[in-house]
Amino acid sequence: MEEGATEAQIEAVINRLVEMGFTVHRSTGVRHTVLGGVGPQDDFDPAVLETMEAVKECHRIVSPYKLASHSFKPAGTVVRVGKVAIGGPQVVFMAGPCSVENEEQIERAAEMVASAGATILRGGAFKPRTSPYSFQGLGEAGLRLLRKAADRHGLAVVSEVMDPSQIPLLSEYVDILQVGMRNMQNFNLLRELGKIRKPVLLKRGIAATFEELLLSAEYILSGGNYDVILCERGIRTFETTMRNTMDIGAIPALKRLTHLPVIADPSHGTGRRDFVVPMARAAVAAGADGLLIEVQHDPDHALSDRAQTLHPEQFLDLTRQVRAIASAIGRTA
Ligand code: PEP
Ligand code: MN
Repeated sequence: MEEGATEAQIEAVINRLVEMGFTVHRSTGVRHTVLGGVGPQDDFDPAVLETMEAVKECHRIVSPYKLASHSFKPAGTVVRVGKVAIGGPQVVFMAGPCSVENEEQIERAAEMVASAGATILRGGAFKPRTSPYSFQGLGEAGLRLLRKAADRHGLAVVSEVMDPSQIPLLSEYVDILQVGMRNMQNFNLLRELGKIRKPVLLKRGIAATFEELLLSAEYILSGGNYDVILCERGIRTFETTMRNTMDIGAIPALKRLTHLPVIADPSHGTGRRDFVVPMARAAVAAGADGLLIEVQHDPDHALSDRAQTLHPEQFLDLTRQVRAIASAIGRTA
């Protein structure tokens, strides 16, 4: 719609789209309102809409994902969590242990993460472990500890949801629900996450193309939940030195294909703490809107992802280095 289009003019276009059989998704920006019509009609004439009052332009989105495509919202999406804005000029740090283990561990992590200038505390309570014999997470008790520690230090919280049945519980305790690599194509879960109004952090599957990742995001967006953050966390290749191969190219590529914020997780992306800092630098240099980092006070005794979890001093160093890179590319961190 044109800048300054009135509510009545916008309503008229929405009604017209509905009449034509489209489902309408509205994005109200600072300057422009964008209406996305998703529907079966592939033979309609855009001029029908372009000649309506206050319509600026009408495009057919040819990519298979519509609401996630860059052209749906060229100005970009900023996901807001309290005072934190993900997708704006500031690079956001999300950090904490892989799993919440006990009160002391998460409290120390929250204190350290906050003092380093991070704004979001991570910690898994429901853990997707490759082996059924590995530590599976503390469940609700873990969520309670995570929330308490975060509140004490003014942090927001991100934690993983593994199953649709866990959504109500997670929603009580966390600010961002994480969908892990293993669940990127759990379509029932994605559909249910489309119904809530809390941000979702969607991680790229271990062998997922950009199109598959964006179609997974589309499941959530098409349900009406527009706050989706994408995360590059490494993919599987023939290389075995690292746990995964961090696909830095995914960051500029996704930024081109979608308006959604893109963050990077160099902890799972490398699996080795000595590679986390350099890959964090690379991700931010490539345009990542944030970093998801595993760190705790005694990483060598962590119950999960020991080898990739940073020592506190390493995390502090990471934040300093990333701030220098952010400022070199005209951002803050
Ligand atoms: C995690 O963040 O701890 C995690 C399990 O991530 P991923 O799904 O990327 O493996
Ligand atoms: Mn982990």
